[in-house]
Amino acid sequence: MEYSYDDQNIFAKILRGEIPNQTVYESEHALAFRDINPQAPVHVLVIPKGPYVSLDHFARDASQEEQVGFMQAVAEVCRLTDTDGGFRAICNTRTHGVQDVPHYHMHIIGGRQLGRMLQ
Ligand code: C5P
Repeated sequence: MEYSYDDQNIFAKILRGEIPNQTVYESEHALAFRDINPQAPVHVLVIPKGPYVSLDHFARDASQEEQVGFMQAVAEVCRLTDTDGGFRAICNTRTHGVQDVPHYHMHIIGGRQLGRMLQ
């Protein structure tokens, strides 16, 4: 599988500070910010700072340190937001997964009772 990272994608611009965002948490390896079109009271996107297109790209090519740093950011998002009742973590992945923004991101969605979701 060849992954081609487009550094003009919107999350790359957010990482470079060219587009504003509502940051929830930031570390050396990850940024977490509120989704601009929230689907629930908590809707946060967690992204790695490295140039990875998708979950499978990140899982294959990111270093262990980047992967650990990413999951630590997810843990911080859970600590900082209303996710005590549970939440949903979603990574839409490439074409079949209907991924719109080609920079790996995990949606953390919660703060209310969600419905079932496979379709
Ligand atoms: O998983 P997918 O790529 O479809 O999701 C992209 C998400 O990025 C959407 O939920 C959209 O609302 C969000 N977004 C954002 N800020 C932007 C552009 C998109 O939070 N400037």
